[in-house]
Amino acid sequence: MARLRQAPIEYKVCADCGIEYEGAQCPQCRHAFDPQTTRKVTHDRLILVGVNPPIYEREARFRCKKCGNLYAAPQSPLCQESNPQRPTIVWVRTFNQVESLEELQRREWLEGEKDEGGEGAEETEIEGVNDHVEESEEQ
Ligand SMILES: [Zn+2]
Ligand SMILES: [Zn+2]
Repeated sequence: MARLRQAPIEYKVCADCGIEYEGAQCPQCRHAFDPQTTRKVTHDRLILVGVNPPIYEREARFRCKKCGNLYAAPQSPLCQESNPQRPTIVWVRTFNQVESLEELQRREWLEGEKDEGGEGAEETEIEGVNDHVEESEEQ
């Protein structure tokens, strides 16, 4: 069953412009993700789980004690530190599904707006009447 849960989400930090992103490349400068040079961090976020296909999947990572980078092993590619501790579980965006949580929320918001369409239609009508009056005065 689909539900929201708070989970540590893995983000890549762009080596060029410093923004955090999910996926294969930086959405801002298009710099491709490279595990040798791209730092990975986690942030706790609310995500939608229990959906098929899954939006996020669990993956094991080691957190480097030296530089804080998350890596898959055998050593931290950023500082070459090799001292794996107990792996930590992070959630990685799968991109199986186009819709992100933000997009889902935006869609719900838009659908909510549509329900109030009755009021909107009345306002439009009143505006139309006013326009008509102005036009008549000009003529
Ligand atoms: Zn970038
Ligand atoms: Zn490191």
